[in-house]
Amino acid sequence: MNEKSETNRFSSTLRGIAEKIRQGSRLDFEDGMAMEKSAELMQIGQLAEQVTRERCGGEVFYCVNRHIHYTNICSMRCSFCGFSREVSQADSYVLTAEEVAEQAREAVERGATEVHIVGGVNPDLPFDYYLNLLGEIRRACPELHIKAFTAVEILDLAGKAGLSIKATLEKLLQAGLGSLPGGGAEILDEQYFKRNCPRKFSPEQWLEVHGTAHRLGVMTNATMLFGFNETAVQRIRHLLRLRELQDESVRGKVGRFQCFVPLVYVPVKPNSKSNGKRNSTDEQKLDSKFYSERFNVVSELKTVAISRLMLDNFEHVKAFWPMLGVNLAQIALCFGADDLDGTVQQYQIVEKKDGRETDNLDAETICRLVMETGRVAVQRDPLYRPVLS
Ligand code: SF4
Repeated sequence: MNEKSETNRFSSTLRGIAEKIRQGSRLDFEDGMAMEKSAELMQIGQLAEQVTRERCGGEVFYCVNRHIHYTNICSMRCSFCGFSREVSQADSYVLTAEEVAEQAREAVERGATEVHIVGGVNPDLPFDYYLNLLGEIRRACPELHIKAFTAVEILDLAGKAGLSIKATLEKLLQAGLGSLPGGGAEILDEQYFKRNCPRKFSPEQWLEVHGTAHRLGVMTNATMLFGFNETAVQRIRHLLRLRELQDESVRGKVGRFQCFVPLVYVPVKPNSKSNGKRNSTDEQKLDSKFYSERFNVVSELKTVAISRLMLDNFEHVKAFWPMLGVNLAQIALCFGADDLDGTVQQYQIVEKKDGRETDNLDAETICRLVMETGRVAVQRDPLYRPVLS
């Protein structure tokens, strides 16, 4: 079958998209929406998988890592969050820099090459806390890569330090920061932020942090929280905003987004956030509604595939198994994802329930999961270079 007749096997809706991909042309907003409206999951998945195979061959990346959450106290009160606490709640906490460094040391002893450190926006922690935290880890584990602080935390730190975003990042880099994770983007849409996370800076500011980091030569990731209160239009616009910033960053030839991480919303039980003080009635209604309505599996896989196809300037798309679940993450490798994150020695952002794994897979299990999809697992360092064992 020649390449032209190859695209003929797609439905009339997807044929034009398949042809654009074959020619290496960029997909536009209408193409994204056509895929969102299409029921042809397998065809969209095949297109995404084809793109991934051309980029990565049959390789799937993972790292040995640990997530560390230094505080769960947060003043932002995003309506989708099941992690944050108020200071008065019995299970709120702040780790000292020494405790964080100890966790990092344990991670290194178990083979970790990177730590992923994020926490709530805690008004009581001064800028020096963050510098000390990085310094302690650096002293305890000089070789360990520190990926830390979402754009939301960076904006909070800039405010606390009275510095520009650039100067704040420079100070953190001097103290040992290696790269930025992609959290806090949610859905980059002003209306969405107003409705669901009105205290959380703005989509434009999130992009500004990442653009500034890229200009400083820092690698970052980007996320999208989907399945919570957003529209298909907002999802496609979110992808296009990221793609636009990535175009600029790639032109700058210094830092860029390395990986896109679609994060499905994992419903929060109405009573799981707190003792009831924290939630407004409206938030509880939202929780109840979405607890029984997790974005369905078809939509989750389609979102991974659409992301891969729209973000033609992103090198990697991650199937983040602590949120997708192990089985679905494995299937997502056949829908355009090429990275399983890592062993994730500890993860507290989603609740453990139904016996589902949310952290702590060993490397052997990850390799087996990858092998079962007919691919080869490659342990990577934070810059996606193979780690030779
Ligand atoms: S999502 Fe992040 S910023 Fe929002 S309440 Fe939770 S911890 Fe705070």
